[in-house]
Amino acid sequence: MTDPVRQLLDDILGGYRLTAKEGVLLMSVRDRRVWDIASVADTVRERMTGNQVTYVRNQNINVTNICVNSCGFCGFSKKPGDAGTFLFGTEEIREKAVLARKRKVTEICTVSGLHPDFDASSYTGIIQTLHDEAPDIHIHASNPMEISYGARNSGITTGEMLVEMKGAGLGSLCGTAAEILVDEVREVICAGKIRTSEWERIIREAHLLGIPTTATIMYGHCETVQDRLRHLEILRNIQDDTHGFTEFVPLSFVHMNTRLFREGTARPGATGREDLMMVAVARLFLDNIRHIQVSWVKTGVKMAQLGLLAGADDIGGTMFEESISKGAGASNTDYLDPSSMKILADDLGRELRQRTTLYAFV
Ligand code: SF4
Repeated sequence: MTDPVRQLLDDILGGYRLTAKEGVLLMSVRDRRVWDIASVADTVRERMTGNQVTYVRNQNINVTNICVNSCGFCGFSKKPGDAGTFLFGTEEIREKAVLARKRKVTEICTVSGLHPDFDASSYTGIIQTLHDEAPDIHIHASNPMEISYGARNSGITTGEMLVEMKGAGLGSLCGTAAEILVDEVREVICAGKIRTSEWERIIREAHLLGIPTTATIMYGHCETVQDRLRHLEILRNIQDDTHGFTEFVPLSFVHMNTRLFREGTARPGATGREDLMMVAVARLFLDNIRHIQVSWVKTGVKMAQLGLLAGADDIGGTMFEESISKGAGASNTDYLDPSSMKILADDLGRELRQRTTLYAFV
């Protein structure tokens, strides 16, 4: 009898679209067939994007770590009055933009804590300041949680806030705050965050307004494999309708300094097999999202390189000044030089190429 996993892999190569249940089957494989799954995902990757490994030269700016929320997986946020809080003013944001120009980045990425005093104009103001100082740099900013929070505090709709942000210079929206798009899981890991339906609504609004977004998942804490596939199915359905996702970025849970881990609610992160299967099954399942990015910040560069052999085609950003994963306990997250990325790509016999946020070659 033909092994169902091998049969599925053959079918996928013939153009078959996986169901969520079949995705669960693949992601649950624990034996040597993980290499078969990775290999087919790598073939699909080659068909979709060719043989290069891409990266973006970007700089991260977190404007504040003060946050009204208390997500259990977050080691970054602090409460007002805590030691180690920061909040950049307009002048400091401007200086960061000047630095970004000097570093010749093509993208500034900015997300922050939900500061108690922030409203829509705070977020728009950050983008306007960055855009005024560095008009040629793509601004990849905020996420559906920040849009919901800013809009609510200003008494406007999320659609109105997105329009304002686009007018101020927003190039694309971060698809973070997705975590796991299953409300029962969100209730445990981030009860203060927007629900799945609101995340989806805001992402669809952005796409309809011509604002592309990334798509993410944060896995390896207390979700099930079924939850992961429910999440991927939501993303695939959105993309079928809007075509607004530029890429999918699996974010492996960094557990060390998080409440979820300390309380024993979460596991100590995903295993290497899980990291590999997350990339591979995402490549096979998300047949309508062109790019899969590995996050060297979350998994380390060696695991990220293996992801590039399991369906991923992009190694993400240079990331000057990363502080969110660092807060959760990850190390060496500040900066990855393109020369180090080139070593990883060369080692796989692939060409490293710089790209823009929207995947044009630089
Ligand atoms: S994940 Fe974001 S919203 Fe949640 S506590 Fe951290 S900074 Fe705040």
